[in-house]
Amino acid sequence: MGWLKTLQDMMTHDKSAGITTMDCPVCRGTPLRQTRLGDYGNVTLDICPTCHGIWVEAGELDRLDGSPWANVEEHHFHETEGDHVEADCPKCAILLTPLSPADMPDVIVDRCSQCNGFWLDHGELDRMKEVAQNLDASAAPVIGDQKPAGWSDLRWNIHRLKATRD
Ligand SMILES: [Zn+2]
Ligand SMILES: [Zn+2]
Repeated sequence: MGWLKTLQDMMTHDKSAGITTMDCPVCRGTPLRQTRLGDYGNVTLDICPTCHGIWVEAGELDRLDGSPWANVEEHHFHETEGDHVEADCPKCAILLTPLSPADMPDVIVDRCSQCNGFWLDHGELDRMKEVAQNLDASAAPVIGDQKPAGWSDLRWNIHRLKATRD
């Protein structure tokens, strides 16, 4: 049973090196590495050492301390046809769905419809910060009678109802 021992040793070694059992959905065959994100606390994200893409489990962005990405997962995303490479969820091995925030159609992220994880290509984490900031900005009090860009009719109507009540 020598090979079994070896395999187990390897797994322990992998763990201490911060390597996960998930492979990069883009590079295929490159294991993702658990990486801490600067000053944002103890949450680790799984990052590909080759393409620097990031796998974000559902809720992970919210759990980062002082996260500039807080609430971004609740932002309204819709399916997009945009320029896009097909990739599988590193966890569930089903095809990821390309999604764009409603108000930022040039941002495309890939989300798993099963586990709700996100795959962010290199640089997309920064774009997600913009998405979160947009969310903040569009939640600010509205001046005037104009529905802000990116707001749904429903959201606008609810806002106006609240404004009349105050
Ligand atoms: Zn990669
Ligand atoms: Zn998944």
